[in-house]
Amino acid sequence: MSVTTSSELSYLSINQAGPWGNFVQQLERVKPHLPDLEPWFASLERPERSLIVDVPVRMDNGNTVHFEAYRVLHNTARGPGKGGVRYHPSVNLPEVMALAAWMSVKNATLNLPFGGAKGGVRVDPHMLSHGELERLTRRYTQEIAPMIGPDTDIPAPDVGTNQQVMAWMADSYGRQTGLAVNGVVTGKPVELGGSLGRQEATGRGVFTVGQLALAQLKMRLPGARVAVQGLGNVGSVAARLFSQAGAKVVAVQDRSGAIFSEGGLDIDALLERKKNARQSLADLAGTQTLTTEAFWEVDCDILIPAALEGQLTEHNASRVKARLILEGANGPTTPQADDIFQERGVLVVPDVLANAGGVTVSYFEWVQNKASYYWSEQEVNERLGQHMAQAFAAVWQLAHEKGVSLRTAAYLIGCSRILRASELRGL
Ligand code: NAD
Repeated sequence: MSVTTSSELSYLSINQAGPWGNFVQQLERVKPHLPDLEPWFASLERPERSLIVDVPVRMDNGNTVHFEAYRVLHNTARGPGKGGVRYHPSVNLPEVMALAAWMSVKNATLNLPFGGAKGGVRVDPHMLSHGELERLTRRYTQEIAPMIGPDTDIPAPDVGTNQQVMAWMADSYGRQTGLAVNGVVTGKPVELGGSLGRQEATGRGVFTVGQLALAQLKMRLPGARVAVQGLGNVGSVAARLFSQAGAKVVAVQDRSGAIFSEGGLDIDALLERKKNARQSLADLAGTQTLTTEAFWEVDCDILIPAALEGQLTEHNASRVKARLILEGANGPTTPQADDIFQERGVLVVPDVLANAGGVTVSYFEWVQNKASYYWSEQEVNERLGQHMAQAFAAVWQLAHEKGVSLRTAAYLIGCSRILRASELRGL
């Protein structure tokens, strides 16, 4: 079967700089390993559906501001779309397309019965009052309501969104459709049908695969030096778990700056202080301030990028000292940086595996909502550990059989599951 495309839309181009171009390049590395499925790859090289919406919001001062927002359904061959909603000033369509595509691969790699989706609003949520944030969220939900639903596409938190945002989304969707279905979003507060353990799940998953990777590398966790970029939902939990297990978190970076402490930072104290979102890291007593560039060069064993995509590039990859990189963020490493790490023997546990704990517990939340039967936190954490360990073992084994990176092995597992489903369904 041969495939031709009716148009070469520029936003679908492999040559495009940024996350979408990076995703397509990552796919290119998998194609030679799946020759039988090659004709179906074209379906992964474009999203199934992309929605751009205008979100007008009445601000507290009486003015109206229009925000551009998106919801992208990348692939639904294996089930309803699943993926977070991002509130960040740099959100744009190709970024949301890439984030949705990474969700397709991640969900399939973990064998969750979901396709991939993602949404976003181009806004700095830190500049909004509580009321403005609520009005923005409700209007965004109304605008994307034709696309989302517990059996079509299920949003969750991502950068700049949280449990409260999910509560407003669930409520707005319910009021608009007349359906009292909490399962339209995951990452909700427990009082609204959220799952115990969901908030910590992504960071916990990063920690779990970190332990497994350290064992493979014959590195010890106690005393290991860790650097973490991003102290939000993902980075803060990962930093705390590594620190509690005896590792030394020597450097952290967030949007306010970066700090370093040779003896290790007091993570509990740091996170307590960070509860005030506007508090800068810069003036923390007993720590040394780092530039953004110097952060990547810190002497450490484990590096955890847990903020935004495109952070590790051909410009800084050769200066990274860590032996192990755990991708808490989605898309933090460009394909060029991947090559440098591969050459230098730095092990990268890719996003589609390392940060899959969040969507795994989102899946548990969705299952609990459908069954209206709720699990204990211990049950959630045990099942999360099992899922992550199984996926890690499968990816590790395939990478060694094929002599490829963990990313390419994870994509091989994920893409073959999606493309077999596509083939069985037909066009
Ligand atoms: P968050 O909004 O809770 O935190 C984001 C953190 O990144 C903050 O500490 C912020 O200060 C920092 N940050 C933002 N811009 C930065 C910059 N330019 N330089 C340095 N730091 C910066 O977001 P999150 O939910 O923790 O998500 C972080 C990453 O993890 C994203 O890539 C997201 O897609 C990915 N992820 C999140 C989840 C989840 O469950 N929340 C699941 C899987 C993957």
